Amino acid sequence: MSTATRSSEGSRVAVRRGQVSPPTALASIGLGGLLVLALWLHDTPAVIGFGGWLTNAGRLTGLVAGYAIAVILLLMARVPALERGLGADRLARWHAMGGRYVVSLAVAHTLLIIWGYSVSAHTDVVSQTSSFIRSYPDVLMATVAVLVLVAIGVTSARAARRRLAYETWHFIHLYTYLAVALSFSHEFATGADFVDNAPARWLWSALYIAVAALLLWCRLAMPVRAALRHRLVVLGVRRESADVVSVYIGGRHLGELATEPGQFFRWRFLTRDLWWAANPYSLSAAARPDWLRITVKVAGGHSAALSTLAPGTKVLAEGPYGGFTATRRTRRRVLLIAGGVGITPIRALFETLPGYPGEICLLYRANDIGEFVLREELEAIARSRGAELHLLPGRPGQGSSDQLAAERVTALVPDVRQRDVFLCGPPGMMAAATRELRRAGVARRDIHRESFVF
Ligand SMILES: Cc1cc2nc3c(=O)[nH]c(=O)nc-3n(C[C@H](O)[C@H](O)[C@H](O)COP(=O)(O)OP(=O)(O)OC[C@H]3O[C@@H](n4cnc5c(N)ncnc54)[C@H](O)[C@@H]3O)c2cc1C
Repeated sequence: MSTATRSSEGSRVAVRRGQVSPPTALASIGLGGLLVLALWLHDTPAVIGFGGWLTNAGRLTGLVAGYAIAVILLLMARVPALERGLGADRLARWHAMGGRYVVSLAVAHTLLIIWGYSVSAHTDVVSQTSSFIRSYPDVLMATVAVLVLVAIGVTSARAARRRLAYETWHFIHLYTYLAVALSFSHEFATGADFVDNAPARWLWSALYIAVAALLLWCRLAMPVRAALRHRLVVLGVRRESADVVSVYIGGRHLGELATEPGQFFRWRFLTRDLWWAANPYSLSAAARPDWLRITVKVAGGHSAALSTLAPGTKVLAEGPYGGFTATRRTRRRVLLIAGGVGITPIRALFETLPGYPGEICLLYRANDIGEFVLREELEAIARSRGAELHLLPGRPGQGSSDQLAAERVTALVPDVRQRDVFLCGPPGMMAAATRELRRAGVARRDIHRESFVF
Protein backbone atom coordinates (compact mmCIF):
# COMPACT_ATOMS: atom_id res chain seq x y z
CA MET A 1 0.00 0.00 0.00
CA SER A 2 1.41 3.37 -0.78
CA THR A 3 1.16 7.01 -0.02
CA ALA A 4 2.26 9.17 -2.95
CA THR A 5 4.15 12.20 -1.75
CA ARG A 6 5.57 13.95 -4.82
CA SER A 7 4.91 17.63 -4.73
CA SER A 8 5.78 20.33 -7.22
CA GLU A 9 5.84 24.13 -7.34
CA GLY A 10 3.65 24.53 -4.29
CA SER A 11 1.08 22.15 -5.65
CA ARG A 12 -1.10 19.79 -3.66
CA VAL A 13 0.26 16.44 -2.54
CA ALA A 14 -1.61 13.40 -3.77
CA VAL A 15 -2.39 10.83 -1.12
CA ARG A 16 -3.39 7.32 -2.12
CA ARG A 17 -4.47 5.07 0.66
CA GLY A 18 -5.60 1.48 0.21
CA GLN A 19 -3.95 1.30 -3.19
CA VAL A 20 -0.97 -0.59 -4.49
CA SER A 21 1.32 1.72 -6.46
CA PRO A 22 3.12 0.47 -9.60
CA PRO A 23 6.59 0.44 -7.92
CA THR A 24 5.20 -1.50 -4.93
CA ALA A 25 3.49 -3.99 -7.22
CA LEU A 26 6.63 -4.48 -9.33
CA ALA A 27 8.81 -4.82 -6.24
CA SER A 28 6.45 -7.45 -4.78
CA ILE A 29 6.35 -9.43 -8.03
CA GLY A 30 10.16 -9.21 -8.24
CA LEU A 31 10.53 -10.36 -4.62
CA GLY A 32 8.31 -13.36 -5.32
CA GLY A 33 10.50 -14.13 -8.35
CA LEU A 34 13.62 -14.02 -6.16
CA LEU A 35 12.02 -16.44 -3.69
CA VAL A 36 11.34 -18.83 -6.58
CA LEU A 37 14.98 -18.53 -7.62
CA ALA A 38 16.05 -19.18 -4.01
CA LEU A 39 13.88 -22.31 -3.94
CA TRP A 40 15.58 -23.61 -7.08
CA LEU A 41 19.06 -22.80 -5.72
CA HIS A 42 18.24 -24.49 -2.41
CA ASP A 43 17.38 -27.73 -4.19
CA THR A 44 20.27 -27.58 -6.64
CA PRO A 45 23.53 -28.43 -4.88
CA ALA A 46 25.36 -29.07 -8.17
CA VAL A 47 24.67 -29.16 -11.89
CA ILE A 48 26.50 -31.95 -13.65
CA GLY A 49 26.97 -32.35 -17.39
CA PHE A 50 25.16 -30.88 -20.38
CA GLY A 51 22.04 -32.94 -19.61
CA GLY A 52 22.07 -31.57 -16.05
CA TRP A 53 22.25 -27.97 -17.27
CA LEU A 54 19.34 -28.53 -19.63
CA THR A 55 17.23 -30.25 -16.98
CA ASN A 56 17.92 -27.52 -14.44
CA ALA A 57 17.08 -24.80 -16.93
CA GLY A 58 13.85 -26.75 -17.49
CA ARG A 59 13.16 -26.92 -13.74
CA LEU A 60 13.76 -23.20 -13.33
CA THR A 61 11.58 -22.19 -16.30
CA GLY A 62 8.82 -24.48 -14.97
CA LEU A 63 8.99 -22.92 -11.52
CA VAL A 64 8.94 -19.39 -12.90
CA ALA A 65 6.04 -20.29 -15.25
CA GLY A 66 4.05 -21.64 -12.27
CA TYR A 67 4.74 -18.46 -10.32
CA ALA A 68 4.00 -16.15 -13.28
CA ILE A 69 0.63 -17.76 -13.95
CA ALA A 70 -0.40 -17.08 -10.35
CA VAL A 71 0.69 -13.45 -10.81
CA ILE A 72 -1.26 -12.91 -14.04
CA LEU A 73 -4.39 -14.42 -12.49
CA LEU A 74 -3.97 -12.11 -9.52
CA LEU A 75 -3.66 -9.09 -11.83
CA MET A 76 -7.05 -9.96 -13.35
CA ALA A 77 -8.75 -10.82 -10.04
CA ARG A 78 -10.18 -7.26 -9.91
CA VAL A 79 -8.76 -6.64 -6.46
CA PRO A 80 -9.86 -3.07 -5.66
CA ALA A 81 -6.43 -2.05 -4.28
CA LEU A 82 -4.80 -3.15 -7.56
CA GLU A 83 -7.53 -1.73 -9.81
CA ARG A 84 -7.32 1.67 -8.17
CA GLY A 85 -3.57 1.81 -7.67
CA LEU A 86 -2.45 0.46 -11.04
CA GLY A 87 -5.45 1.31 -13.24
CA ALA A 88 -7.27 -1.07 -15.57
CA ASP A 89 -5.11 0.03 -18.48
CA ARG A 90 -1.80 -0.90 -16.86
CA LEU A 91 -3.25 -4.09 -15.36
CA ALA A 92 -4.38 -5.24 -18.80
CA ARG A 93 -0.96 -4.45 -20.29
CA TRP A 94 0.90 -6.27 -17.52
CA HIS A 95 -1.49 -9.20 -17.76
CA ALA A 96 -0.94 -9.46 -21.53
CA MET A 97 2.83 -9.22 -21.16
CA GLY A 98 2.78 -11.76 -18.30
CA GLY A 99 0.68 -14.07 -20.47
CA ARG A 100 3.36 -14.03 -23.17
CA TYR A 101 6.01 -14.91 -20.55
CA VAL A 102 3.90 -17.76 -19.16
CA VAL A 103 3.37 -19.38 -22.57
CA SER A 104 7.05 -19.01 -23.52
CA LEU A 105 8.27 -20.33 -20.16
CA ALA A 106 5.86 -23.29 -20.18
CA VAL A 107 6.97 -24.28 -23.69
CA ALA A 108 10.65 -23.79 -22.79
CA HIS A 109 10.16 -25.87 -19.62
CA THR A 110 8.63 -28.75 -21.60
CA LEU A 111 11.32 -28.77 -24.30
CA LEU A 112 14.27 -28.32 -21.93
CA ILE A 113 13.14 -31.09 -19.58
CA ILE A 114 12.63 -33.53 -22.47
CA TRP A 115 15.97 -32.60 -24.04
CA GLY A 116 17.84 -32.68 -20.72
CA TYR A 117 16.53 -36.11 -19.74
CA SER A 118 17.19 -37.54 -23.19
CA VAL A 119 20.81 -36.29 -23.10
CA SER A 120 21.39 -37.70 -19.60
CA ALA A 121 19.70 -41.03 -20.41
CA HIS A 122 21.27 -41.26 -23.92
CA THR A 123 17.89 -41.70 -25.59
CA ASP A 124 16.24 -39.78 -28.40
CA VAL A 125 13.71 -37.05 -27.62
CA VAL A 126 10.76 -38.95 -29.08
CA SER A 127 11.21 -42.01 -26.82
CA GLN A 128 11.93 -39.70 -23.88
CA THR A 129 8.69 -37.78 -24.50
CA SER A 130 6.72 -41.00 -24.75
CA SER A 131 8.34 -42.32 -21.55
CA PHE A 132 7.42 -39.09 -19.70
CA ILE A 133 3.81 -39.23 -20.80
CA ARG A 134 3.40 -42.96 -20.10
CA SER A 135 5.35 -43.38 -16.88
CA TYR A 136 5.52 -40.06 -14.98
CA PRO A 137 2.54 -39.17 -12.81
CA ASP A 138 0.29 -36.39 -14.14
CA VAL A 139 2.64 -35.38 -16.96
CA LEU A 140 0.01 -36.15 -19.60
CA MET A 141 -2.34 -33.65 -17.93
CA ALA A 142 0.45 -31.07 -17.75
CA THR A 143 1.16 -31.59 -21.48
CA VAL A 144 -2.49 -30.86 -22.26
CA ALA A 145 -2.19 -27.75 -20.05
CA VAL A 146 0.76 -26.47 -22.11
CA LEU A 147 -1.19 -27.05 -25.33
CA VAL A 148 -4.16 -25.14 -23.87
CA LEU A 149 -1.86 -22.24 -22.90
CA VAL A 150 -0.34 -22.16 -26.39
CA ALA A 151 -3.83 -22.06 -27.92
CA ILE A 152 -4.77 -19.15 -25.64
CA GLY A 153 -1.53 -17.39 -26.57
CA VAL A 154 -2.20 -17.84 -30.29
CA THR A 155 -5.76 -16.50 -30.06
CA SER A 156 -4.49 -13.49 -28.09
CA ALA A 157 -1.88 -12.55 -30.70
CA ARG A 158 -2.80 -9.21 -32.21
CA ALA A 159 -3.61 -10.53 -35.71
CA ALA A 160 -5.89 -13.31 -34.39
CA ARG A 161 -7.46 -11.02 -31.79
CA ARG A 162 -8.62 -8.62 -34.50
CA ARG A 163 -10.55 -11.41 -36.23
CA LEU A 164 -12.24 -12.74 -33.08
CA ALA A 165 -15.30 -11.31 -31.38
CA TYR A 166 -14.41 -10.08 -27.89
CA GLU A 167 -16.71 -12.66 -26.32
CA THR A 168 -15.08 -15.58 -28.19
CA TRP A 169 -11.64 -14.41 -27.15
CA HIS A 170 -12.81 -13.95 -23.56
CA PHE A 171 -14.39 -17.40 -23.49
CA ILE A 172 -11.20 -19.05 -24.78
CA HIS A 173 -9.28 -17.14 -22.12
CA LEU A 174 -11.32 -18.82 -19.38
CA TYR A 175 -9.54 -22.07 -20.29
CA THR A 176 -6.54 -20.65 -18.40
CA TYR A 177 -8.19 -21.93 -15.23
CA LEU A 178 -8.36 -25.41 -16.78
CA ALA A 179 -4.66 -25.21 -17.68
CA VAL A 180 -3.79 -24.28 -14.08
CA ALA A 181 -5.87 -27.14 -12.71
CA LEU A 182 -4.34 -29.65 -15.14
CA SER A 183 -0.76 -28.64 -14.51
CA PHE A 184 -0.85 -28.20 -10.75
CA SER A 185 -0.63 -31.83 -9.64
CA HIS A 186 2.43 -32.68 -11.78
CA GLU A 187 4.35 -29.93 -9.97
CA PHE A 188 4.12 -31.78 -6.66
CA ALA A 189 4.23 -35.29 -8.15
CA THR A 190 7.35 -34.82 -10.27
CA GLY A 191 8.85 -31.40 -9.41
CA ALA A 192 12.28 -31.91 -7.83
CA ASP A 193 11.74 -28.74 -5.76
CA PHE A 194 8.59 -30.08 -4.15
CA VAL A 195 8.78 -33.89 -3.90
CA ASP A 196 10.88 -33.89 -0.72
CA ASN A 197 10.24 -30.34 0.46
CA ALA A 198 7.06 -30.02 2.52
CA PRO A 199 7.48 -26.30 3.41
CA ALA A 200 7.86 -25.47 -0.30
CA ARG A 201 4.69 -27.45 -1.05
CA TRP A 202 2.82 -25.53 1.68
CA LEU A 203 4.01 -22.14 0.47
CA TRP A 204 3.25 -22.95 -3.17
CA SER A 205 -0.24 -24.19 -2.23
CA ALA A 206 -0.80 -21.07 -0.12
CA LEU A 207 0.04 -18.87 -3.12
CA TYR A 208 -2.50 -20.64 -5.34
CA ILE A 209 -5.16 -20.80 -2.62
CA ALA A 210 -4.76 -17.05 -1.92
CA VAL A 211 -5.13 -16.20 -5.63
CA ALA A 212 -8.17 -18.52 -5.98
CA ALA A 213 -9.76 -16.97 -2.88
CA LEU A 214 -9.21 -13.44 -4.24
CA LEU A 215 -10.65 -14.42 -7.62
CA LEU A 216 -13.76 -15.90 -6.01
CA TRP A 217 -14.18 -13.03 -3.58
CA CYS A 218 -13.61 -10.13 -5.95
CA ARG A 219 -15.14 -11.54 -9.14
CA LEU A 220 -18.07 -13.40 -7.62
CA ALA A 221 -18.89 -12.64 -3.99
CA MET A 222 -18.41 -8.86 -4.17
CA PRO A 223 -20.62 -8.36 -7.26
CA VAL A 224 -23.37 -10.59 -5.83
CA ARG A 225 -23.25 -8.75 -2.52
CA ALA A 226 -23.34 -5.38 -4.32
CA ALA A 227 -26.28 -6.50 -6.49
CA LEU A 228 -28.33 -7.45 -3.45
CA ARG A 229 -27.44 -4.25 -1.64
CA HIS A 230 -27.91 -1.70 -4.44
CA ARG A 231 -30.63 -3.25 -6.65
CA LEU A 232 -29.66 -1.20 -9.68
CA VAL A 233 -32.20 -0.50 -12.44
CA VAL A 234 -32.23 1.56 -15.63
CA LEU A 235 -34.00 4.87 -15.02
CA GLY A 236 -33.92 6.04 -18.61
CA VAL A 237 -31.91 6.45 -21.81
CA ARG A 238 -31.12 9.79 -23.44
CA ARG A 239 -29.84 10.16 -26.99
CA GLU A 240 -26.77 12.42 -27.14
CA SER A 241 -25.97 12.12 -30.88
CA ALA A 242 -26.60 9.79 -33.82
CA ASP A 243 -24.48 7.03 -32.29
CA VAL A 244 -24.14 7.97 -28.60
CA VAL A 245 -26.62 7.48 -25.76
CA SER A 246 -26.53 8.13 -22.03
CA VAL A 247 -28.01 5.54 -19.68
CA TYR A 248 -29.18 6.67 -16.25
CA ILE A 249 -29.08 3.99 -13.55
CA GLY A 250 -30.75 4.25 -10.16
CA GLY A 251 -30.53 2.16 -7.02
CA ARG A 252 -30.26 2.10 -3.25
CA HIS A 253 -27.36 3.24 -1.05
CA LEU A 254 -25.39 4.47 -4.07
CA GLY A 255 -23.13 6.55 -1.82
CA GLU A 256 -21.71 3.33 -0.37
CA LEU A 257 -20.21 2.48 -3.76
CA ALA A 258 -17.54 5.09 -2.96
CA THR A 259 -17.16 5.88 -6.65
CA GLU A 260 -14.52 8.36 -7.71
CA PRO A 261 -14.96 10.47 -10.85
CA GLY A 262 -12.93 8.92 -13.68
CA GLN A 263 -13.74 5.34 -12.67
CA PHE A 264 -15.70 2.70 -14.55
CA PHE A 265 -17.89 -0.30 -13.82
CA ARG A 266 -18.47 -3.52 -15.74
CA TRP A 267 -22.18 -3.38 -16.53
CA ARG A 268 -24.44 -6.36 -17.05
CA PHE A 269 -27.93 -5.42 -18.24
CA LEU A 270 -30.38 -8.21 -17.46
CA THR A 271 -32.30 -8.36 -20.74
CA ARG A 272 -32.73 -11.52 -22.81
CA ASP A 273 -29.91 -10.54 -25.18
CA LEU A 274 -27.45 -8.81 -22.86
CA TRP A 275 -27.45 -10.68 -19.52
CA TRP A 276 -24.40 -12.79 -20.40
CA ALA A 277 -22.06 -9.87 -21.20
CA ALA A 278 -20.44 -7.47 -18.71
CA ASN A 279 -18.88 -4.57 -20.61
CA PRO A 280 -16.82 -1.73 -19.16
CA TYR A 281 -18.19 1.82 -19.36
CA SER A 282 -16.95 4.85 -17.39
CA LEU A 283 -19.25 7.08 -15.40
CA SER A 284 -19.83 10.20 -17.48
CA ALA A 285 -20.78 12.33 -14.47
CA ALA A 286 -19.89 12.25 -10.80
CA ALA A 287 -22.10 9.72 -9.00
CA ARG A 288 -25.22 11.31 -7.50
CA PRO A 289 -26.99 9.99 -4.38
CA ASP A 290 -29.81 8.61 -6.54
CA TRP A 291 -28.30 7.96 -9.98
CA LEU A 292 -25.23 6.98 -11.93
CA ARG A 293 -24.75 7.72 -15.62
CA ILE A 294 -22.81 6.16 -18.45
CA THR A 295 -22.48 7.57 -21.97
CA VAL A 296 -21.87 5.03 -24.68
CA LYS A 297 -20.88 5.17 -28.36
CA VAL A 298 -21.89 2.34 -30.66
CA ALA A 299 -18.92 0.03 -31.26
CA GLY A 300 -20.66 -3.32 -31.73
CA GLY A 301 -23.57 -5.43 -30.46
CA HIS A 302 -23.50 -4.56 -26.76
CA SER A 303 -23.09 -0.81 -27.05
CA ALA A 304 -25.68 -0.62 -29.87
CA ALA A 305 -28.29 -2.46 -27.79
CA LEU A 306 -28.07 0.02 -24.91
CA SER A 307 -30.22 2.54 -26.79
CA THR A 308 -33.14 0.11 -26.54
CA LEU A 309 -32.97 -0.46 -22.77
CA ALA A 310 -36.36 -0.05 -21.12
CA PRO A 311 -36.72 1.79 -17.79
CA GLY A 312 -36.85 -0.74 -14.97
CA THR A 313 -34.32 -3.13 -16.60
CA LYS A 314 -32.28 -4.71 -13.82
CA VAL A 315 -28.54 -4.05 -13.83
CA LEU A 316 -25.55 -5.73 -12.20
CA ALA A 317 -22.49 -3.53 -11.86
CA GLU A 318 -19.02 -4.70 -10.94
CA GLY A 319 -16.82 -1.94 -9.61
CA PRO A 320 -15.91 0.82 -9.23
CA TYR A 321 -12.62 0.08 -10.98
CA GLY A 322 -9.78 2.09 -12.37
CA GLY A 323 -7.18 4.56 -11.18
CA PHE A 324 -7.89 7.37 -13.66
CA THR A 325 -8.91 9.63 -10.80
CA ALA A 326 -7.88 12.73 -8.90
CA THR A 327 -5.49 10.59 -6.83
CA ARG A 328 -3.09 10.61 -9.80
CA ARG A 329 -2.82 14.36 -9.56
CA THR A 330 0.34 15.89 -8.14
CA ARG A 331 0.17 19.43 -9.54
CA ARG A 332 -2.08 22.37 -8.88
CA ARG A 333 -3.00 22.94 -12.54
CA VAL A 334 -4.53 20.29 -14.74
CA LEU A 335 -5.03 19.84 -18.47
CA LEU A 336 -7.75 17.39 -19.52
CA ILE A 337 -7.66 16.05 -23.09
CA ALA A 338 -10.52 14.01 -24.52
CA GLY A 339 -10.97 12.45 -27.95
CA GLY A 340 -14.47 11.40 -29.07
CA VAL A 341 -16.28 9.23 -26.52
CA GLY A 342 -13.15 9.42 -24.34
CA ILE A 343 -14.94 12.47 -22.96
CA THR A 344 -16.86 10.26 -20.50
CA PRO A 345 -14.36 9.95 -17.61
CA ILE A 346 -12.94 13.38 -18.52
CA ARG A 347 -16.38 14.97 -18.18
CA ALA A 348 -16.64 13.57 -14.63
CA LEU A 349 -13.17 14.89 -13.77
CA PHE A 350 -13.89 18.29 -15.35
CA GLU A 351 -16.87 18.63 -13.05
CA THR A 352 -15.14 17.58 -9.84
CA LEU A 353 -11.36 18.15 -9.85
CA PRO A 354 -10.69 20.80 -7.24
CA GLY A 355 -9.30 23.98 -8.74
CA TYR A 356 -9.59 27.74 -8.78
CA PRO A 357 -10.61 29.58 -11.97
CA GLY A 358 -7.89 29.11 -14.61
CA GLU A 359 -6.43 25.96 -13.07
CA ILE A 360 -8.48 23.40 -14.98
CA CYS A 361 -8.50 23.35 -18.79
CA LEU A 362 -10.20 20.88 -21.15
CA LEU A 363 -9.24 20.27 -24.78
CA TYR A 364 -11.97 18.22 -26.46
CA ARG A 365 -11.10 16.73 -29.84
CA ALA A 366 -13.58 15.29 -32.34
CA ASN A 367 -13.66 14.79 -36.11
CA ASP A 368 -16.74 16.89 -36.60
CA ILE A 369 -18.62 19.58 -34.67
CA GLY A 370 -21.67 17.26 -34.43
CA GLU A 371 -19.61 14.69 -32.50
CA PHE A 372 -19.11 16.84 -29.38
CA VAL A 373 -21.49 15.04 -27.04
CA LEU A 374 -22.38 16.47 -23.59
CA ARG A 375 -21.40 19.86 -24.98
CA GLU A 376 -23.99 21.92 -23.10
CA GLU A 377 -23.05 20.32 -19.81
CA LEU A 378 -19.37 20.98 -20.42
CA GLU A 379 -20.04 24.62 -21.25
CA ALA A 380 -22.14 25.00 -18.09
CA ILE A 381 -19.39 23.44 -15.95
CA ALA A 382 -16.75 25.69 -17.57
CA ARG A 383 -18.88 28.77 -16.88
CA SER A 384 -19.75 27.86 -13.30
CA ARG A 385 -16.21 27.10 -12.16
CA GLY A 386 -14.17 29.41 -14.38
CA ALA A 387 -12.50 26.53 -16.18
CA GLU A 388 -11.33 26.68 -19.79
CA LEU A 389 -12.98 24.61 -22.50
CA HIS A 390 -11.66 24.38 -26.08
CA LEU A 391 -13.56 22.36 -28.67
CA LEU A 392 -11.15 21.21 -31.38
CA PRO A 393 -13.03 19.83 -34.41
CA GLY A 394 -11.40 18.45 -37.55
CA ARG A 395 -9.99 15.29 -39.10
CA PRO A 396 -6.67 14.11 -37.66
CA GLY A 397 -3.80 16.07 -39.24
CA GLN A 398 -0.20 15.04 -39.70
CA GLY A 399 2.40 16.25 -37.15
CA SER A 400 2.24 19.99 -36.52
CA SER A 401 -0.96 20.38 -38.58
CA ASP A 402 -3.02 18.44 -36.02
CA GLN A 403 -5.24 20.19 -33.50
CA LEU A 404 -3.28 18.53 -30.69
CA ALA A 405 0.17 19.30 -32.12
CA ALA A 406 2.69 20.53 -29.54
CA GLU A 407 2.67 24.07 -30.98
CA ARG A 408 -1.12 24.31 -30.87
CA VAL A 409 -1.40 22.87 -27.35
CA THR A 410 1.31 25.24 -26.08
CA ALA A 411 -0.49 28.20 -27.69
CA LEU A 412 -3.75 27.26 -25.94
CA VAL A 413 -2.16 26.20 -22.65
CA PRO A 414 1.18 28.04 -22.30
CA ASP A 415 1.93 26.48 -18.89
CA VAL A 416 1.26 22.92 -20.11
CA ARG A 417 4.63 21.73 -18.73
CA GLN A 418 3.54 22.66 -15.21
CA ARG A 419 0.30 20.66 -15.43
CA ASP A 420 -0.86 17.13 -14.84
CA VAL A 421 -2.44 15.88 -18.05
CA PHE A 422 -5.37 13.44 -18.04
CA LEU A 423 -5.85 11.87 -21.47
CA CYS A 424 -8.59 9.59 -22.81
CA GLY A 425 -9.60 8.81 -26.38
CA PRO A 426 -9.17 6.35 -29.26
CA PRO A 427 -5.78 4.56 -29.37
CA GLY A 428 -4.41 6.49 -32.37
CA MET A 429 -5.37 9.84 -30.89
CA MET A 430 -3.87 8.90 -27.48
CA ALA A 431 -0.58 7.82 -29.05
CA ALA A 432 -0.35 11.01 -31.14
CA ALA A 433 -1.35 13.26 -28.21
CA THR A 434 1.20 11.61 -25.91
CA ARG A 435 3.93 12.13 -28.53
CA GLU A 436 2.98 15.80 -28.94
CA LEU A 437 2.77 16.40 -25.19
CA ARG A 438 6.26 14.97 -24.77
CA ARG A 439 7.41 17.25 -27.60
CA ALA A 440 5.84 20.18 -25.73
CA GLY A 441 8.00 19.26 -22.72
CA VAL A 442 5.45 17.47 -20.50
CA ALA A 443 7.12 14.81 -18.35
CA ARG A 444 5.95 11.24 -18.98
CA ARG A 445 5.01 10.80 -15.31
CA ASP A 446 2.61 13.77 -15.57
CA ILE A 447 0.59 12.16 -18.38
CA HIS A 448 -2.20 9.97 -16.98
CA ARG A 449 -4.01 7.85 -19.55
CA GLU A 450 -7.18 5.77 -19.70
CA SER A 451 -7.55 3.40 -22.62
CA PHE A 452 -10.89 1.99 -23.75
CA VAL A 453 -9.20 -0.81 -25.66
CA PHE A 454 -8.26 -4.15 -24.14
C1 LIG B 1 -12.01 0.96 -18.85
C2 LIG B 1 -12.94 1.14 -20.02
C3 LIG B 1 -13.87 2.16 -20.00
C4 LIG B 1 -14.72 2.35 -21.09
N1 LIG B 1 -15.63 3.37 -21.06
C5 LIG B 1 -16.41 3.58 -22.13
C6 LIG B 1 -17.36 4.67 -22.12
O1 LIG B 1 -17.49 5.39 -21.16
N2 LIG B 1 -18.12 4.85 -23.23
C7 LIG B 1 -17.99 4.03 -24.35
O2 LIG B 1 -18.72 4.24 -25.32
N3 LIG B 1 -17.11 3.00 -24.37
C8 LIG B 1 -16.33 2.75 -23.29
N4 LIG B 1 -15.44 1.71 -23.31
C9 LIG B 1 -15.38 0.86 -24.51
C10 LIG B 1 -16.51 -0.15 -24.46
O3 LIG B 1 -16.33 -1.03 -23.37
C11 LIG B 1 -16.55 -0.98 -25.73
O4 LIG B 1 -16.69 -0.11 -26.83
C12 LIG B 1 -17.74 -1.90 -25.71
O5 LIG B 1 -17.60 -2.82 -24.64
C13 LIG B 1 -17.79 -2.59 -27.04
O6 LIG B 1 -18.66 -3.72 -26.97
P1 LIG B 1 -19.59 -4.05 -28.21
O7 LIG B 1 -20.22 -5.39 -28.00
O8 LIG B 1 -20.49 -2.90 -28.48
O9 LIG B 1 -18.57 -4.11 -29.43
P2 LIG B 1 -17.62 -5.31 -29.90
O10 LIG B 1 -17.61 -5.27 -31.38
O11 LIG B 1 -17.93 -6.59 -29.21
O12 LIG B 1 -16.25 -4.80 -29.33
C14 LIG B 1 -15.53 -3.73 -29.89
C15 LIG B 1 -14.22 -3.67 -29.09
O13 LIG B 1 -14.52 -3.26 -27.75
C16 LIG B 1 -13.74 -3.99 -26.81
N5 LIG B 1 -14.61 -4.75 -25.88
C17 LIG B 1 -15.78 -5.36 -26.15
N6 LIG B 1 -16.30 -5.92 -25.07
C18 LIG B 1 -15.44 -5.67 -24.07
C19 LIG B 1 -15.40 -6.01 -22.70
N7 LIG B 1 -16.35 -6.72 -22.10
N8 LIG B 1 -14.32 -5.61 -21.98
C20 LIG B 1 -13.35 -4.90 -22.56
N9 LIG B 1 -13.33 -4.53 -23.84
C21 LIG B 1 -14.34 -4.92 -24.59
C22 LIG B 1 -12.87 -4.91 -27.57
O14 LIG B 1 -11.59 -4.32 -27.70
C23 LIG B 1 -13.53 -5.02 -28.91
O15 LIG B 1 -12.59 -5.26 -29.91
C24 LIG B 1 -14.61 1.50 -22.22
C25 LIG B 1 -13.68 0.47 -22.24
C26 LIG B 1 -12.84 0.29 -21.16
C27 LIG B 1 -11.84 -0.83 -21.20
